[in-house]
Amino acid sequence: MTTDKTAPVAILGSGAWGLSVALHLKNAGYNDITVFDRASEIPSPYSAGYDLNKIVRPEYEDPFYRDLALEAIKGWKTPLFGPYFHKTGYVVATSGRAPQKAVTHLHEALASIKNHPVFKPFVSPLNDAQSFKELFWQFRGPVTGFKGYFNRYAGYAHSSNAMKGIHQHLAGRGVRFVLGAEEGRVTDLLYSGQGASRRCTGIRVASGTIHEAKLVISCLGAYQAEILPAAASFNVAKSWSVAHVQLTEAECDLLRGIPVLNVRDLGFFFEPDPATKLFKLCPLGAGYVNTNEKTGISLPPLNALPVPQNWIPAEDVVKLRTLLRETLPWLAERPLIDQKMCWFADTADSEFCIDFVPDTDRSVVLLSGDSGHGFKMMPIVGSWVLDLLNDGRQKLPRWQWRQTDRKSSKDWGDAVSWRIGTTKEIREVVEERDRMVKARL
Ligand SMILES: Cc1cc2nc3c(=O)[nH]c(=O)nc-3n(C[C@H](O)[C@H](O)[C@H](O)COP(=O)(O)OP(=O)(O)OC[C@H]3O[C@@H](n4cnc5c(N)ncnc54)[C@H](O)[C@@H]3O)c2cc1C
Repeated sequence: MTTDKTAPVAILGSGAWGLSVALHLKNAGYNDITVFDRASEIPSPYSAGYDLNKIVRPEYEDPFYRDLALEAIKGWKTPLFGPYFHKTGYVVATSGRAPQKAVTHLHEALASIKNHPVFKPFVSPLNDAQSFKELFWQFRGPVTGFKGYFNRYAGYAHSSNAMKGIHQHLAGRGVRFVLGAEEGRVTDLLYSGQGASRRCTGIRVASGTIHEAKLVISCLGAYQAEILPAAASFNVAKSWSVAHVQLTEAECDLLRGIPVLNVRDLGFFFEPDPATKLFKLCPLGAGYVNTNEKTGISLPPLNALPVPQNWIPAEDVVKLRTLLRETLPWLAERPLIDQKMCWFADTADSEFCIDFVPDTDRSVVLLSGDSGHGFKMMPIVGSWVLDLLNDGRQKLPRWQWRQTDRKSSKDWGDAVSWRIGTTKEIREVVEERDRMVKARL
């Protein structure tokens, strides 16, 4: 392990977490930091945050994450992060047809904030359709059976712009960025020594160039297991669908300032992006994995296969159209554009992993398992790495490296309270689609 601030540090991945680590290390005085990314520019299209927006909200059933989110929200309100944070408020709801799991989750999320001294003044119940219509006067849909609450201490971050802005800030302060499929794509970690003295000496990138480093911090998101297959024992590449409706300028203005609406059994949407006039929608569900039958490891499908371009599973389209019919019916039959599967790093219990990689003499740090709720933490993620380096070990059991037997495991975390449904293999969903298309011909 190094706390020598002049020693070369390599950060792998310039997504939300890698950038945060670079920022905190730089602020702490580390002065030889290089960030590597396979993308040719930042934000990287391979990042789970390559998107218009991500929800920034404090409610978690677990007070540990609630308190972290509160700290992160304070970070979003600083001059550096503030331009990307939009405190529109956040509505959590269930529709009249929600399964009990979603209803229970809603109650527990509310319980986590309603009596909290910071959030209490900002939280109000939405007990019937009328309260939703008063809040969202633009809703012409029936909002059948909707119940929930409004939390004004929350909103969303413009995720692509946040990554772009922090990248520019860091580049201006002397953090080096090595980008692109040849020079930026990391292919190997290099080691010297054996047993207890084995340590990482640097990395190799796709072009074959070797970069020496005293400390390697791996923040590769869904791609982690490509470089560190052992991490696949507890860390899985999983995806959710994203789609958009193209609005006119007037429609965009009409929806300006609406809170984020998250209907736990259907999906969520944000106020439209004023620059592109895109209205982003995400269906909610347990997600899709892409397991290689030989290795048993799920990784994002590079070269798009087996996932078709501009496509999301039919069941997700149904959820989004239902969500729109209930709320904004005038958009319900519009084309869903820029459809994509967005890949993140999931764990079965939804816990992050922030720890040294075993048998590396603390020369490699792994940041992974964002579990689809890690973007909001961007302002503070790097501070967790500083704590780890200063303490010399991960003191929090929940964030320690885990060795899980995945052999018989099909447990992709469906039991986690906020995941409604069952995780599926993306290949099987695509095959089913192909069968249906053929049957129609
Ligand atoms: C559909 C969807 C919705 C989400 N919604 C929310 C939300 O509302 N709120 C929230 O807080 N979180 C949300 N998340 C989760 C959030 O996006 C992630 O937690 C966050 O992006 C994780 O950051 P990361 O840096 O770990 O990974 P990423 O942002 O994915 O970054 C990984 C980086 O590694 C790079 N990389 C990969 N392989 C290599 C390689 N071999 N060499 C070099 N570089 C490489 C990639 O190019 C990328 O830049 C959502 C995720 C998805 C998919």
